[in-house]
Amino acid sequence: MHPSMAAPPPMRKLRHAGASGSIAHMALPDLHMHTPRCNHATGAPRDYAEAALAAGLPEIGFSEHAPMPNGFDAAWRMSEAEVGDYFAEIRELAARYRGRLVVRIGIECDFRPGDEPFLRELLAAHPWDYALGSVHFIGDWGFDNPDEIAGWETRDVEEVHLAYYDLVARAAASGLFDVLAHPDLVKKFGHRCDTPRVREAERRMLEAAARAGVALEISSAGLRKPVGEVYPAKRLVAAAADMGMAFAFGSDAHAPGEVGHAWRTCRDLLRAAGVRAVRSFARRRPVDHPIA
Ligand code: ZN
Ligand code: FE
Ligand code: FE
Ligand code: ZN
Repeated sequence: MHPSMAAPPPMRKLRHAGASGSIAHMALPDLHMHTPRCNHATGAPRDYAEAALAAGLPEIGFSEHAPMPNGFDAAWRMSEAEVGDYFAEIRELAARYRGRLVVRIGIECDFRPGDEPFLRELLAAHPWDYALGSVHFIGDWGFDNPDEIAGWETRDVEEVHLAYYDLVARAAASGLFDVLAHPDLVKKFGHRCDTPRVREAERRMLEAAARAGVALEISSAGLRKPVGEVYPAKRLVAAAADMGMAFAFGSDAHAPGEVGHAWRTCRDLLRAAGVRAVRSFARRRPVDHPIA
């Protein structure tokens, strides 16, 4: 072999390894955070952006709770009249932080069967970067709302899980969303259930998500709740990773101090399952960021 075709000296190789090492320490985009418009979050959007910079995040996205038809659950979300102002406010924030922090404009939509036309219109009304699809209601019951926790006493835990995963599967199949938020939120208060029927319902949910090409959120919010673990559980992360599904990270921050919460824990869970990227979105087109 001609000397000029020899491999580069080890020093160069080392330096290159150092460069890819910087990916290893890159904080994840955090696509799930709220604003005071939902009436249960504190801090101005600007404070969330500053917290993100302080935490070394490259990118954040706001995902305020969307209005629901007929003023349902109005106390816990922004109103229809506010959606335009919300969009404009975050767009202005994004412009102010350009070059320092990428700020995306998303929205967290509650999925209830029958609400699809309302949601379709809401999502078409503005050039959102992405939409999170969430299931917080089984019928009219807000199963994750601390004010409605008594509803668990009169229901069968397995049946609640089956109904929940069926709704998440339908949310995926609706084609309305880019990400399924906290996809095993049903465990929030510690009601775990992994019977064969529940595992089967989980599998159907993952298959619906894979078919629809929707990403799963890996959310650190569960660490701050009674269940004390990331959403979704490790076995769901593993199953989804085996199916080649995409993941997006979210802290579900309701206060600036929660921005980017436990992103390393979530990244490590993804890596352990063999996931090599996390997903963000621009104008509803996926942008993948390597994590390994
Ligand atoms: Zn909330
Ligand atoms: Fe949520
Ligand atoms: Fe949220
Ligand atoms: Zn949420």
